Amino acid sequence: MSKVSCSLPDPQLLEGAKAAFKQAYAPYSRFRVGAALRTSDGRVFFGANVENASYGLGRCAEQSAVQAMATAGAREFTEIVVYSEATPPASPCGACRQILFEFSPEARVVCVNQHGDVVSGRVAEFLPHGFRLEQRDDGHEVGTL
Ligand SMILES: [Zn+2]
Repeated sequence: MSKVSCSLPDPQLLEGAKAAFKQAYAPYSRFRVGAALRTSDGRVFFGANVENASYGLGRCAEQSAVQAMATAGAREFTEIVVYSEATPPASPCGACRQILFEFSPEARVVCVNQHGDVVSGRVAEFLPHGFRLEQRDDGHEVGTL
């Protein structure tokens, strides 16, 4: 990821991601993550990781934030801040990278930790060649009947 840089997060999103971090439900891993994103129309949504005794059912903070955004009817975000107490800062997992890519491949991702360490870049830089279901082989365009 040579293109990933270290630009500072939006202060409001950083505070939101920290607040979400405090709400994380991570009794099994004890690895808490908070996320906050800003939509193209300026709304802010939050997410925290939520684990489950059935481990595979756990949900990442980034996914939670995107679910909140999509449920509110928003379909595009410009920046997501991911906060953790990991060094280096926790980066979105592969599944989350694809989920972020679905909505906003050009959005900025800023991963931050409690020391102020930052790793950032565009979603498409975190997930080069992300999957898109735009057209089937038979020419049928997705989203049409
Ligand atoms: Zn994830």
